[in-house]
Amino acid sequence: MTVKTRFAPSPTGYLHVGGARTALYCWLYAKKQHGTFVLRIEDTDRERSSDASVQAILDGMQWLGLEHDEGPYYQTKRFERYAEVKEQLLAQGKAYRCYCSKERLDALREQQMVNKDNIGYDGHCRNLSEDEQDVSKPHVIRFKNPLEGAVVFEDLIKGEISVNNSELDDLIIARTDGTPTYNFTVVVDDLDMGISHVIRGDDHVNNTPRQINMMSALNAQTPLFAHVPMILGDDGKRLSKRHGAVSVMQYRDDGYLPQALLNYLVRLGWSHGDQEVFSRDEMVELFDIKDVNRAPSAFNTDKLNWLNQYYMKNLPAEEVARHLQWHLNEQELEVSHGVDVKLLIPEMAERVKTLKELASAIRYFYQDYDSFDEKAAKKHLRPVARQPLELAKEKLAATSDWSADHLHSLVSQTAEQLELGMGKVGMPLRVAVTGAGMSPDLGVTLEWIGKDAVLRRIDKALEFIAQREANG
Ligand code: GLU
Repeated sequence: MTVKTRFAPSPTGYLHVGGARTALYCWLYAKKQHGTFVLRIEDTDRERSSDASVQAILDGMQWLGLEHDEGPYYQTKRFERYAEVKEQLLAQGKAYRCYCSKERLDALREQQMVNKDNIGYDGHCRNLSEDEQDVSKPHVIRFKNPLEGAVVFEDLIKGEISVNNSELDDLIIARTDGTPTYNFTVVVDDLDMGISHVIRGDDHVNNTPRQINMMSALNAQTPLFAHVPMILGDDGKRLSKRHGAVSVMQYRDDGYLPQALLNYLVRLGWSHGDQEVFSRDEMVELFDIKDVNRAPSAFNTDKLNWLNQYYMKNLPAEEVARHLQWHLNEQELEVSHGVDVKLLIPEMAERVKTLKELASAIRYFYQDYDSFDEKAAKKHLRPVARQPLELAKEKLAATSDWSADHLHSLVSQTAEQLELGMGKVGMPLRVAVTGAGMSPDLGVTLEWIGKDAVLRRIDKALEFIAQREANG
C-alpha cells in the first residue's frame, strides 16, 4: 500500500501543541513508509476561519520543519466537488432532502430528552416521494445512514471500535444554503486525495463511524484510522491556554529550538525503550503509529527545558546560531563585531535554558553593561578589590598577547604578586568585565570581550569601588 497521510487543521487559531504533535505523527509515518504527507486547510467555517490563522499554521509547520509533499489544499476551493458528490448521493438514493423546520426538530429533541431516547433525527423525510416534495422550499440534505448493523473498525492506536448504526442518525451533509458540512467534506477529501491513513486527535473518534458509512456509500475503500489521545497539562486537565504557551510559535518566541520541541512532542505519547533524545532521522526510523500510547499524556515543562538545553549544547553551533539570530534581533543585540557567536554557544548554553536567555546572557561580550548586578557587586567590588584590579589592569594593558592562556597567567601572576588567592583577584575581575558573577573561564572571557572593553570596564569597577569608599 502506498502510504498517504494528511494533517487537516481548521484555521480558527494558531497551530497549538496538540495539533503540532498530530502533524508530527502524520509526517513521521509518511516519511517512514516512504509515503506522502498532505497538508489540507479545512476552512469551510468562514466565520471562524481567518487568513491570519492559515498563515500561523503555515509558519508553525515551517518552523518545525514539517514540510508537506502535497498541498496545501483549501476546502473553500473545492465547493464544486462537494456539490457534485452530494448530487451523486441524491441521485443514487443515498441521501435525501429534509424539509423539517427548526420548530419540529426542537420539539423532537425535547421529546427525546423527556423519553430518555437517543438524541437525533428521526428520519421523518427519509422516504418522501418526489410528489411529496417541493424542492423550491428550504431544505437540507441528509445522508441515509444504514439502519441495521454496526460499524466496526480497527483503530491503530485504540484497537477495535464498534458502533451500532441504531446510534447514528442521518447526518446533514449540506445546509439550507447549500454549503457542505464538516464530516462530508472530510470524507470527500480523504477519498479524492487517496489518503491511506487518517491520523488525528481522538476528539474526532465519534465522527469516524459516520464517515466510514459515507465512504461505503460512495463504494470506496476506507482508509485506516489512528486516533491520538489528547495532551493534558501538568495539572491533569486538558491542555489549554491556561497552561501558558500552547501556540507553537510562542515556543519559538520563548526561546525553544524546533528540534527540542519536536523531540519533546514525539515522546509525548510515544516511546522507544528509555531513549529520550531522538534526531529527526532516528524518529523517522523508529516511529510507528502502533506504538503510540492509548492513555493521554501530560505536558512536562521541565523535560522540554532539559531537551532544549541539550540541543543548544549538542547541535552544530551554526544551527543554534541561526535560531539564536531571531532572538538577537528581538533583543537588538548586534554581534557582527566581536567574538564569533558560534564560539560562545556551547560554552554559554551550559548556563541557560532557552535561546532567549542565551541572547541576553551573551550581551556583555558585545556591549558594555549598564550597571552591575547588585549582588555580585556588593560581594566582590569592595575596597579590598581595588589593588588587585589596579595591578591586573596594569598587566593587561601592557600585554600584546591577548590569548586566553596568557591572560589567565597574568591573572595568576597578579594573585601571586599580591600574595592573594586566585579568587580574590579573579572574582572582582569577572564582575568588573561582565557586570555579573557568572561567565566562562576567566581567560576565555577576557579574550572574547577584547582588550579595549576589558580596560574600560575595569575602570568602571574602580570608579564604583571609589564611590563606595567615599560613601563609607
Ligand atoms: N479540521 C479538523 C480539526 O482541525 C481535523 C479533521 C480531521 O483530521 O479529520 O480538528
